[in-house]
Amino acid sequence: MPIIVKSPREIELMRQAGKITAQARTIARQAIRDGVTTGEIDKEVYDFITKSGATPSFLNYGGFPGSACISVNEELIHGIPGDRVVRKGDIVSVDVGAKIHGYHGDCAGTYPCGEVSAEAKRLMEVTRQSFFEGIKYAKAGNRLGDIGAAIQEYVEKQGYSIVREYVGHGVGADLHESPEVPNYGRAGHGPRLVKGMTIAVEPMVNAGSAAIRVLDNEWTVVTVDGKLAAHYENTICITDGEPEILTMADDI
Ligand code: MG
Repeated sequence: MPIIVKSPREIELMRQAGKITAQARTIARQAIRDGVTTGEIDKEVYDFITKSGATPSFLNYGGFPGSACISVNEELIHGIPGDRVVRKGDIVSVDVGAKIHGYHGDCAGTYPCGEVSAEAKRLMEVTRQSFFEGIKYAKAGNRLGDIGAAIQEYVEKQGYSIVREYVGHGVGADLHESPEVPNYGRAGHGPRLVKGMTIAVEPMVNAGSAAIRVLDNEWTVVTVDGKLAAHYENTICITDGEPEILTMADDI
């Protein structure tokens, strides 16, 4: 599939989608508290996105039953919202998407419920920072592999593991477009970045080994060793200079 470079008009529409998506992530973060269920968090995300005039991108996507993927502790991604109760000390990954005027935004973050362990804090911070290390190279003229190589190098230097089975992706009129955006790779390799490309950069980081498996519900991805995992994502637009973060909010 070809990489779709967006026009200024399309990028403006993606800003609108991105803004709603980022606000939905904030709503989800603020809903995290001791005793809340992941289903209750998902309901707040659904209500916010629909009240904004947008559509939750994930709801019914491939049959997914929620508006947000909510993944707790050893769950890396694709947690199905439901009866699971969040407790103080847990870390909660929320991944949200919203579509408006024909374009999607996609972003995620991992947040604490109350006080969490120093190790959990460090994992969340390293995962978030690895996104920013990667997008230092997200600039027209560079190669896609420059981003993944920077993320991988930073994460592994901190003693954590990059998951390889799942990757970032182009975003636009479709939630998942070309190219794939791995969180690993070789600098100087891969497609050349062009102004107007819109991609989701989303490091997925395990505290222990990189091995993951999918639960019997056929969605939820967990670490094989049961150790913590974290996820952080924004949709960005490639420019001649610094990338524009389309899923921008005060608290990203
Ligand atoms: Mg994504």
